[in-house]
Amino acid sequence: MQMTWKQWRWILLWAVNIVIIFAVWASVSAPLIGTDYSQTLRAISRLGGLYAAYTLLVQLWLIGRAKLLEADFGLDRLTRIHRWNGFAAVLLALVHVPTLLASYAPVYGVQIPQVLPIILENFEDTTKALIAELLIFGIAASSLVIARRKLKYQWWYYIHLLTYVAIIFAFGHQVHNGRELLQVQWFNYYWYGLFIVSFAMIGFYRFFMPFWRWNTHRFRVARVEKLSANVYHIYISGRNVTDFEYRAGQFAKYWFVARGFWVDEHPFTISIEPGGEELRITYKILGDFTGKLSKIPKGTPVVIDGPYGRFTLDRIQSKKVVFVAGGIGITPIRAMLGELAVQKRSLKAQIFYAAKTTDEFVMLDEIRSLARKADATLHLVASEGSGRADIRGLLTADVLRQELNTLASTDFYICGPPSMMKALRRQLRAAGVSNELIHTEEFSLVKS
Ligand SMILES: Cc1cc2nc3c(=O)[nH]c(=O)nc-3n(C[C@H](O)[C@H](O)[C@H](O)COP(=O)(O)OP(=O)(O)OC[C@H]3O[C@@H](n4cnc5c(N)ncnc54)[C@H](O)[C@@H]3O)c2cc1C
Repeated sequence: MQMTWKQWRWILLWAVNIVIIFAVWASVSAPLIGTDYSQTLRAISRLGGLYAAYTLLVQLWLIGRAKLLEADFGLDRLTRIHRWNGFAAVLLALVHVPTLLASYAPVYGVQIPQVLPIILENFEDTTKALIAELLIFGIAASSLVIARRKLKYQWWYYIHLLTYVAIIFAFGHQVHNGRELLQVQWFNYYWYGLFIVSFAMIGFYRFFMPFWRWNTHRFRVARVEKLSANVYHIYISGRNVTDFEYRAGQFAKYWFVARGFWVDEHPFTISIEPGGEELRITYKILGDFTGKLSKIPKGTPVVIDGPYGRFTLDRIQSKKVVFVAGGIGITPIRAMLGELAVQKRSLKAQIFYAAKTTDEFVMLDEIRSLARKADATLHLVASEGSGRADIRGLLTADVLRQELNTLASTDFYICGPPSMMKALRRQLRAAGVSNELIHTEEFSLVKS
């Protein structure tokens, strides 16, 4: 996918720091390379350590929800980069410690394993650094797909929070023993600066902003409405709700401050267009949290962190737009349809709302009336059962071509089960639709 200059500016910032670190390492440690076995390993270990620490700081930026960064990449993409950057940090940490131990073995005249207690004895804060290294390995192991499948999301999330502990625990041994920091004064200030700015960013966006927003709007649960056996609306009221700016299609993270709910925040799309006196989420019961959410007491304070996401009408490039919703994936599309109905844009819009059986369709009256207002065509697609539907069977690119005559010069917005989105994206790409015209929203931020 083509990168925008706004995205390139962040990559440039990342690369400038990579170059600064390398330049200082080259001036301090690189001359050791080739002098002898121990010194060479020491130099490699230092570079591994510097980059492991820097890469972990980058992890904070990737999940810090910094507004500008999120607006340029989208939380879903940042979360994917975060995953691979995390594994890079583990690899660099893996380079750092073994090479360090091996570099000191000849110095102390002992075998590599016997070096560790000597290092812990003689170098400041190395015990905490060792704990940090072990934490990083544990966190990475818990994020492997095989492990994630066995771990409840909440437990995975709590383990992941230990990353903050690991980064803080590792800092001490860097400033007390890091040759580059000890020898190059400005680099020492620069290093402190990197940590202070990164933790300040986390403090501001992950803690201050959600509470500041709550203090401004005092969001509370207004009412819960049942739509079907397992789908509900939750309306959220508050002060000056119209000042809470978001684009239709965006989501937020919600923290319901009530007994039995306050342990974790969950992401849900805002399922109505901006401009109303209330916010609304529409959710389908999936697991523990959504299973009990309908019992949330009226008046419960809601700390909302967001809006986030780039699944909005801002990305439209052509005069024709096709929305494909699978099941509960209708929520961002319902919101965008509402925005289209208000904006009256000169767009030819079609909505394909797919579900296994017709009794899974929700908000049909709302969607029909908005489709009329937006001059959009609604197609109901049912893959099973006999209820009234316009299209029967699975929704494929061929079915879309039959309905639309052509797939060319059309934006496709797709939100639904991962398997459906993957298949449709593949089929549309194979049919010649460019990646820039296919917009998707996944209802999961973590690979599962
Ligand atoms: C951008 C986005 C928009 C979403 N919009 C909607 C929506 O409009 N309507 C709707 O019904 N669902 C939506 N979801 C999905 C919703 O967040 C999950 O269904 C819900 O969090 C499941 O929690 P659970 O405890 O009931 O299920 P669990 O069984 O605990 O989790 C099921 C899956 O949900 C995801 N999940 C669970 N807890 C969290 C969490 N705290 N943070 C992130 N992901 C989590 C994980 O992938 C997990 O594997 C959205 C998700 C995302 C990422």
